[in-house]
Amino acid sequence: MIREKHPRMIFDILTIFPKLLESPLDEGILRRAISTGKISTNIVNIRDFAYDTHTMTDDRPFGGGEGMVMKPEPLARAVESRKTNSPSGKVILLTPQGRQYTQSVAKELAEESHLILVCGRYEGVDERFRSAYVDVEISIGDYILTGGELAAMVVIDSVTRLLPGVLGCTDSAEKDTFYRNLLKHPQYTRPRIFQDHSVPKELLSGNHGVIEEYRFIASVKRTLERRPEFMKDVVFSDKEKKTLRRHKLFDAVATLQSRAV
Ligand code: SAM
Repeated sequence: MIREKHPRMIFDILTIFPKLLESPLDEGILRRAISTGKISTNIVNIRDFAYDTHTMTDDRPFGGGEGMVMKPEPLARAVESRKTNSPSGKVILLTPQGRQYTQSVAKELAEESHLILVCGRYEGVDERFRSAYVDVEISIGDYILTGGELAAMVVIDSVTRLLPGVLGCTDSAEKDTFYRNLLKHPQYTRPRIFQDHSVPKELLSGNHGVIEEYRFIASVKRTLERRPEFMKDVVFSDKEKKTLRRHKLFDAVATLQSRAV
């Protein structure tokens, strides 16, 4: 296995529950990306930066009310410790109030070289830490998790697979759902017949052109059925437009694209 000299991306994950992150980083593609030096991950325990006798990382909210709030000083020290050698590291706070995470945000983050992911807990982090240290706030969806660790893993996983050389097959990220806003075509593997349902004959034809066309059309149909709103952002080549015409899909696609203007 060839190991890169410098990782393409450094992920620092600031958390009070480091164990939550160990196992997901130790399996599959992420494990391989770490062992080949494509990425480097550091799990930073925020408690190590709480200098009072009880290593307290949270306290009661001023003004009263439910729950606890994460104190600003340990978070600030933890971030500063990661920035010492890499001042341009981007600080990301995982929060349900942040920018909605999508594949295009993942692509933007994959252009960075150092992400510092701050995992909140309890009622969240002190506002003064947020305004002084955080560059980007990210939400992975409109629901509330108990902590930011799973959200941080979503970011690490989705960004890592976009980095050059991480996936086994060089073009598989380009063919994923969302990459060009078309949902991926349905997939089939052995056996050829499962419970009386056969694999589409085009996929068994052995003809590359027939297979490509079948997949492209299946992809367009699936997007029209399930996520028509994506169609406005898809750019079709002249060859693809001809194929859409042949399959009588051009008008449906053109209508959605013109509505978007
Ligand atoms: N009280 C907060 C609110 O109403 O906005 C929610 C706090 S939540 C219980 C604890 C932590 O989980 C948050 O600080 C954040 O780090 C993380 N979290 C929860 N839901 C999230 C989401 N949808 N996306 C990203 N992080 C989330």
